[in-house]
Amino acid sequence: MARVHNFCAGPAALPLEVLEQAQQEMLDWQGAGLSVMEMSHRSPEIVKIFEEAEQDLRDLMAIPDDYAVLFLQGGASTQFSAIPLNLLGDKGAADYVNTGQWSKKAIKEAKRYADVNVVASSEDDNFASIPAFDSWNLNADAAYLHYTPNETIGGVEFFWEPETQGVPLVADMSSTILSRPVDVSKFGVIYAGAQKNIGPAGLTLVIVRKDLLGNAADATPTMLDWKTIADNDSMYNTPPTYAVYLAGLVFKWLKKQGGLDAMEQINRRKAEKLYGYIDASDFYANPVEIASRSLMNVPFTLANADLDKAFLKGADEIGLLNLKGHRSVGGMRASIYNAVPEQAIDDLIAYMQKFAAENA
Ligand SMILES: *Cc1c(COP(=O)(O)O)cnc(C)c1O
Repeated sequence: MARVHNFCAGPAALPLEVLEQAQQEMLDWQGAGLSVMEMSHRSPEIVKIFEEAEQDLRDLMAIPDDYAVLFLQGGASTQFSAIPLNLLGDKGAADYVNTGQWSKKAIKEAKRYADVNVVASSEDDNFASIPAFDSWNLNADAAYLHYTPNETIGGVEFFWEPETQGVPLVADMSSTILSRPVDVSKFGVIYAGAQKNIGPAGLTLVIVRKDLLGNAADATPTMLDWKTIADNDSMYNTPPTYAVYLAGLVFKWLKKQGGLDAMEQINRRKAEKLYGYIDASDFYANPVEIASRSLMNVPFTLANADLDKAFLKGADEIGLLNLKGHRSVGGMRASIYNAVPEQAIDDLIAYMQKFAAENA
């Protein structure tokens, strides 16, 4: 067996230990005589798997008791609609920050339901920075403020939280969740597709302050009303049982690494190495302002875009996979989530050095 280094933005690398445990338990989960995939979601085994996954996540993120943890389907993209449907109430207006492609998608969907006020945008700067907070045009009467703490495509990350003066803060943490500690109590809602830092595709996580439940618009589909899901312990209908099981294994793996403080140290070291090399080289470049460079997604360009194909081909040949940048921006992107080992960064830098030397 030869495992490659997977730099995919999502679905992304999973910890090898997690995959090995899943493999070992595939046919017979802990003596139950069947696979987790084959179990009724009403069975005591699945209930235990869900409860443990939730508790481990609560431990990792220090989620306060007045927050509900929901395991859903439909991806972060479905939450782009669920957010206004659940939170607008009688307000009608919501604030959004536009820092990249995922912000734009969230804004586009919210406009179907809400009077959307884009409080700040870095689009004129090609999404290479975050607008200074004192320039934001916040509405004190907005139903909520939505932002994207890590723009997966542009590689732009917030290392601070907006101050909202009581307006619930809503964060699409799809590509940054669990990469470092966050103070959950600052947020009204945190949501994330699982396929970056949580587990396999097919699972979506919502962490919502309980007082925000129960205000969904009348026309809200039952499955999109967070209260329905909260009242039924994420089992109103058949939940993505195997994905929650794998996420639970990832949470236990994260605890074993030392939790999110330890992950932050590792992630900072990995990112600093890669940015450090890119900045020192005159062959590669990263366009993002230094204070807002993502720890998880590192876009970079080559001095000559005509070499992109050769770069990717050579990388593939030595097992450095999925380095092609998003189709909307081009160039390269290395996604270096929790499960991407430090060795992958070292191997990537060694390859980049060699390629630059041969093509400069
Ligand atoms: C990947 C991603 C999404 C889309 O997630 P889906 O689960 O595919 O809907 C949304 N926002 C961010 C920040 C992402 O990284």
